[in-house]
Amino acid sequence: MGKINAVRGTRDLLPPDTALWNFVEDTVRDVFRAYNFQEIRTPIFESTELFARGVGEETDIVSKEMYTWEDRAGKASDQLLEMLENIRETLGGSTEETLKYISSSKAQIEAEKWKAQSLTLRPENTAGIVRAYIEHKMWDRGLNKFFSIGPMFRRERPQKGRYRQFYQIDAEIIGPPSAGSESPARDAEILELLATLLDRVGIKDWTLELNSVGCPNDRVKFNEALRKALEPVVNKMCADCQRRATTNPLRVFDCKVPEDQPIIEKLPRISHFLDEPCSKHFEEVKGILKAVGVDFVENDRLVRGLDYYTRTAFEFTHGALGAQKAILGGGRYDGLSEALGGPAAPGIGFAIGEDRLVLSLSKSTEEATRTPDVYIAPLGEGMNREAARLARELRRSEKDLVVELGDESFRLKKSFEAADKVKARYILIVGENEVKADAFALKHLASGKQVTVPRAELAARISSK
Ligand code: AMP
Repeated sequence: MGKINAVRGTRDLLPPDTALWNFVEDTVRDVFRAYNFQEIRTPIFESTELFARGVGEETDIVSKEMYTWEDRAGKASDQLLEMLENIRETLGGSTEETLKYISSSKAQIEAEKWKAQSLTLRPENTAGIVRAYIEHKMWDRGLNKFFSIGPMFRRERPQKGRYRQFYQIDAEIIGPPSAGSESPARDAEILELLATLLDRVGIKDWTLELNSVGCPNDRVKFNEALRKALEPVVNKMCADCQRRATTNPLRVFDCKVPEDQPIIEKLPRISHFLDEPCSKHFEEVKGILKAVGVDFVENDRLVRGLDYYTRTAFEFTHGALGAQKAILGGGRYDGLSEALGGPAAPGIGFAIGEDRLVLSLSKSTEEATRTPDVYIAPLGEGMNREAARLARELRRSEKDLVVELGDESFRLKKSFEAADKVKARYILIVGENEVKADAFALKHLASGKQVTVPRAELAARISSK
């Protein structure tokens, strides 16, 4: 039979590489804790409408890249129908009104029963988190600081650093305006957190690109100016840009077609269209960043791919990534909650591409991998039991030991080879004589030095390097 491979654009993350992923996730969890962020986990699929409304129909993500399918709602409606039938039977002709109500509900459910519901694998996580914020009325908690780590799905052309299932580390600060969610102090806090996070995982030469995309009022004026400027040149641009020019001209700045860039370079700049409150907000974000010593460069072409962004928009880039140089992106989305049917809930957040973060690490897999402190080699029949007892003792000791366990059928030479292969520091021989004496031969593999150690002293001896 033919073999089955992973689907194009997806990949297996294998050891030892997964040690780097664990290192990244442990480190970011530590950083989030220090900034008082708490974890949120939302489903990996949501109703398609959430992304259509929360990300924007005109974005590449929604118009081209989503994994969407029709999911039949049949089972739930069957259960509902059964419930209604039970109620009808037990009521048995009591009030005419109730019976009529139940019958008409039944007819309605019957009609809707096989109507499909459109579902989508999440292409990003902000919309899902804001949906959860609204669903659970989390404004009661004041300012919410969430983080989340998990897979996202986009049908993009796969290449190095770009996958169809990839992982994002997200953070969002969201809450009612009265909780200070609009404050530029939050934007600066998020950006300073990111600088700390990248430093902590050991990524040094990053660049923070910063912009303000203003508020909806600014954008009406900016869009008008853009449309005007595009009119005489748009027929020289790519097909996508020609479409964007009429539907949502701001998206023209997403264009990557080289021939279009000289035209785009001459288009009006959002920085000239910010109103007084937006300019002040942006100045304050920059002021705090300077005060805490986080470097940035201003890039007023940075508009980000999503519709709900307002004011602060940013990207961190890293040269080592080549074409896919954005490690992370984020910004403010003050209007998103309302767009999803919720109350005013200004917010700011980011998504780090974990795949790209791991690709830009200078740490090696060897540095991130913990190899066994000891390989226990049972020698001869009946020794598996003794070795298992010892392994249990050592693994449960307070010395935080990594213990690998062999098999009594291995000859001594094979045990040594196995210990070498897993890069154990010590090998511990468990033979009949050792068990009788309750003292074991412990050999340091690099130096070849061997000592006999009483059972009670083993954990301490192995943990002392
Ligand atoms: P976005 O949600 O588009 O702002 O993306 C945020 C970050 O996720 C980007 O800066 C990338 O690092 C990462 N990212 C986006 N799309 C992909 C992909 N297809 N493969 C790997 N990483 C991605």
